[in-house]
Amino acid sequence: MNERGKIIIIVAPSGTGKSTLIKRLKEEFRELHWSVSFTTRKMRPGEVDGKHYFYISREEFIKKKDQGDFIEWAEVHGNYYGTSLGFVSTKIDNGFSLLFDLDVQGADNMKAQFGEEARAIFISPPSIETLEERLRGRGTDTEDVIKLRIDNARSELKRCHDYDYVVVNDQLEQAYQDLREIVEDILKN
Ligand code: ADP
Ligand code: 5GP
Repeated sequence: MNERGKIIIIVAPSGTGKSTLIKRLKEEFRELHWSVSFTTRKMRPGEVDGKHYFYISREEFIKKKDQGDFIEWAEVHGNYYGTSLGFVSTKIDNGFSLLFDLDVQGADNMKAQFGEEARAIFISPPSIETLEERLRGRGTDTEDVIKLRIDNARSELKRCHDYDYVVVNDQLEQAYQDLREIVEDILKN
């Protein structure tokens, strides 16, 4: 029988640099598969249905949730996101390791269900001021959205020591090296 795949969860407040770091991880660790979640948010330019997310309506989402199709689900910044039980079980049971990008609620729920089998890495910005600069610098969000994300970040940052590892994304290259060492270690053990 195959050895079960590993569960690696990246959790970070919006604007920390999570997407930048995950992109590099995906390029380097080809054996890591991406956990494709379901979402009710609109597809962004460049995204592909079934690759980045499975995009569904709110009605379809609620139906799937009621049927027990999700391991966990959460409302994040006004949209629903859910981790698919079928998708994850098939991959893990067949020995494929999965990389997850979850908010703190999702990471908590995965840890509650998978315990030590799920390894969660919290990415922290060096400070709230730096996070704010990055959100503004990215230029993708309105002032209201930026304020909401900073408020959420303040409470999420209080949780930074509740996970298995913390990486501070100050200098990008150093943060990536710290992250890749952790991921290598998880995949080896
Ligand atoms: P998230 O996915 O966490 O919301 P992004 O990866 O989109 O964050 O990063 C937010 C912005 O900060 C982007 O413009 C990105 O290029 C920039 N950024 C990421 N990491 C660093 C870093 N270490 N130093 C400076 N800017 C960074
Ligand atoms: P985005 O819309 O920018 O892709 O993601 C927004 C937020 O939703 C991110 O913080 C991401 O971690 C979170 N997220 C994405 N998929 C899931 C999921 O399946 N479950 C949970 N709980 N959060 C998710």
